[in-house]
Amino acid sequence: MNMIKTALVVGGGIAGMSAAIELRRRGIAVDLIDLDPQWRVYGAGISITSPSFRAFGELGILDEILAEGYSGSGIRICDIHGHPIEEVRDPEGLPGSGGIMRPVLHRILAGHTRAGGTNVRLGITVASLKQNGEGVDAEFTDGSTGSYDLVLGADGLYSRVRSLIFPDAPAPVYMGQSVWRLFAPRPAWFDRRHFFLGGRMKVGAAPVSRDHLYLFLLEKTERHPIIPDEELPDRMRFLMEGYGGLVGELRDSISPESSIIMRPLEALVLPEPWHKGRILLIGDAAHPTTPQLASGAGMAVEDAVVLGQEIDHSANPDEAIARYMQRRLARCKLVAHNSMEIGRLEQRQAPPAEQTALVAQSLRVLAEPI
Ligand SMILES: Cc1cc2nc3c(=O)[nH]c(=O)nc-3n(C[C@H](O)[C@H](O)[C@H](O)COP(=O)(O)OP(=O)(O)OC[C@H]3O[C@@H](n4cnc5c(N)ncnc54)[C@H](O)[C@@H]3O)c2cc1C
Repeated sequence: MNMIKTALVVGGGIAGMSAAIELRRRGIAVDLIDLDPQWRVYGAGISITSPSFRAFGELGILDEILAEGYSGSGIRICDIHGHPIEEVRDPEGLPGSGGIMRPVLHRILAGHTRAGGTNVRLGITVASLKQNGEGVDAEFTDGSTGSYDLVLGADGLYSRVRSLIFPDAPAPVYMGQSVWRLFAPRPAWFDRRHFFLGGRMKVGAAPVSRDHLYLFLLEKTERHPIIPDEELPDRMRFLMEGYGGLVGELRDSISPESSIIMRPLEALVLPEPWHKGRILLIGDAAHPTTPQLASGAGMAVEDAVVLGQEIDHSANPDEAIARYMQRRLARCKLVAHNSMEIGRLEQRQAPPAEQTALVAQSLRVLAEPI
């Protein structure tokens, strides 16, 4: 029986919106706040793996993802000239690899969040959170207050909720790689996720719609380089030197107008449990991951789905949180741990087969029922 009547979700990203949708389905009154007054998301592409497709299905948005994103089959491993070396097949019974632009995913999730009746408040955050035995009293930065049975910290890698409840938690650290992403037209033959291995860097690409793809490359650097926007095209072209096939063609197509995003890879490992009383961290606030398994967003949606299920099956919020933690820990830790390990293999330029084996093995485990 559901004993939770009111919930506050701090952070309107993939985790927060998914959780709001699941909580509203159970009749819970949900306030969702986001620090960004415009509730924006940056314009990069995101890869969708089989478990992520499944989680979108459980959330009830798979049809829209398929209509506006891309669904293909398997991952093709190629050398740096685009010659195929190996195929990573889809886990049985699940759709394969795909992609979508983040703003499109955000629009779909935000539409369902608002339509479900979540009270969305933008441009504010929590000033303080106090457990009161039966729930949590929140004070917001605009001076307003509220009391909730459950508070979800879904405010990402640099979570304020995490720092409020775990002031001694480790800070995110730079993982030795920066990711470059390029948004470009999709050739008709390019029908699945590809990795181009064996060069100085890990390079990959994924379709994100019928017409477009995004290419990413992971540059190893001691420190995160700060590069002015106008220098990004030249620098990216330089990094792609020596690559042939699709990567070479995309390199030669880069112009000052190209859509390029570069950012550092950062992560932290938060000791469990990922909650204090009735304040629970979900998504990147609890288990941030580097993107090597392209599963962080999928894990964020799964968090919401599992939380909803455990609320249904629990007698009280504390039991729901405990059951949730039991189901989420090993899985989310596997994604974070194996992603970091693949990052280390990439940085020491381990043989393509070694890198691919860990990707394939991890995806097989993640295909298990949640
Ligand atoms: C380079 C890169 C590539 C990636 N590629 C993939 C991929 O291909 N596939 C995949 O599945 N995953 C990928 N991921 C992981 C994925 O992006 C994250 O796991 C996912 O976005 C986590 O969602 P979230 O809602 O927990 O956090 P976020 O997406 O960070 O959302 C947090 C939200 O909280 C808001 N917020 C922040 N601070 C506050 C505050 N104090 N108060 C209120 N609101 C606040 C923000 O405005 C934002 O809306 C990638 C990650 C990176 C870094």
